[in-house]
Amino acid sequence: MGLLDGKIALVFGVANKNSIGWGIAKALQREGATIVLSYAMDRLEKRVRPLGESIGCELMLQADVSSGDELDAVFAAVEEQYGKLDVLVHSIAFADRESLGGRFVELSRAGLLAAIDISAVSLIELSRRAEPLMKDGGSIMSLTYNASRQVIPNYNAMAIAKAALEAITMYLAADLGQSKIRVNAISAGAIKTLSAGGIAGFRDLLKYAEVTSPMNELVSQDDVGDLALFLASDLSRRITGEVIYVDAGHNIMGYTDVEALARQLD
Ligand code: NAP
Repeated sequence: MGLLDGKIALVFGVANKNSIGWGIAKALQREGATIVLSYAMDRLEKRVRPLGESIGCELMLQADVSSGDELDAVFAAVEEQYGKLDVLVHSIAFADRESLGGRFVELSRAGLLAAIDISAVSLIELSRRAEPLMKDGGSIMSLTYNASRQVIPNYNAMAIAKAALEAITMYLAADLGQSKIRVNAISAGAIKTLSAGGIAGFRDLLKYAEVTSPMNELVSQDDVGDLALFLASDLSRRITGEVIYVDAGHNIMGYTDVEALARQLD
């Protein structure tokens, strides 16, 4: 018997097999959930469809989270096919290249607002549509990064979007608790994915994360998937409004021995 037998999980943000959303979809399906995938653009269907088919997805739906109509269509399709929803995964982020590098003070208003809208405000848009389908309560989760709480060079607009996402998580949790819906954010360590590739200096960040985390390890999509599985399941039944880290402990480190670091980076 699986932890998620009989559960319906809707996962937004699978672009390819390296997506964190895909690591999560696989983990939820392994424990019995029926997965619905949503991807951003028509041109991604070729890549996403075989992935979905490999885990028995019946519904794979295109939606840009900035379009209310497209989101309405996704939730209507889930309602029509399954009549309910138990788990919602928001694994989406976007910022234009100019907003992911350079001096923070030069950040454009338009670039910042677009990043916040697509990467954070969209969680409210998804949650509002999910609530009526989560008739027996449910679990909503999103993906954040510690650049919200500590300065990480070049994250600029995305750091601010993640800070907004974490605040939105708290406010949604407080509001949706009455519907027995839990809302949490997973703060994942750095992982090589399509989106991460857009951040200047990401390779160096990966190396730094590996050598300075207490466990001297990087995090994988599957590591995040297993935490998502916990959050989706009844095992986390009294946890809501939290930011939970899966980063090999990297976020706790305040200072790194410079000589040891230099030796490890050699
Ligand atoms: P990814 O594979 O590129 O996934 C990001 C997804 O967001 C893509 O499927 C992308 O679709 C989608 N997206 C962007 N704009 C969208 C829109 N307007 N409407 C609908 N979908 C849209 O990268 P990832 O690293 O797995 O990112 C997933 C989440 O994890 C993000 O929230 C990210 O910030 C977070 N995270 C990542 C790391 C890391 O180091 N990789 C660490 C912590 C947290 P398109 O490809 O079609 O644009």
